[in-house]
Amino acid sequence: MATPLAHADLRARLSGEVALSALTAGRAVVSLRSQRTGEFRTYRVAKFETSPHFSVEFRGGGSLEISGVRIPRLDGWTRIGVLYVQDGIPHRFVPNLKTHVDSDTVNGFRWMVNQLVSKTWSDEKAEIWHEGQCCKCGRRLTDPESIRLALGPICRGR
Ligand SMILES: [Zn+2]
Repeated sequence: MATPLAHADLRARLSGEVALSALTAGRAVVSLRSQRTGEFRTYRVAKFETSPHFSVEFRGGGSLEISGVRIPRLDGWTRIGVLYVQDGIPHRFVPNLKTHVDSDTVNGFRWMVNQLVSKTWSDEKAEIWHEGQCCKCGRRLTDPESIRLALGPICRGR
């Protein structure tokens, strides 16, 4: 009898190729892990309803400037910028100047996208993980192939 997988087992490391398509699937939550520091940074890349571009958010930390006042964000998601796409491929990340997070958070995301788009991604410098959720619809992934591809069976078929 198969043992149900624990939540932690559903997280998976993505290849550069899968990570690139996952990022623009529509509702991706991915973590970038630096091999040098071992630190994880988690990003949500969600397509805007009214444009082909994507909102990029960071989980936890930083502060958001509202009417000139910096409001600390200890948890939840903070928008750090917009990822512009052209023909479905990310081509420019523009940071949100009203968001104050440490520069590694912004630079790390930009670096990740550049490496993926230029096909120079190497797991020796960093790893990209997902959290067991479909990067298109956000539903929990339950089978090994879906976990590897970061997309559920229905979203893969579209
Ligand atoms: Zn899905």
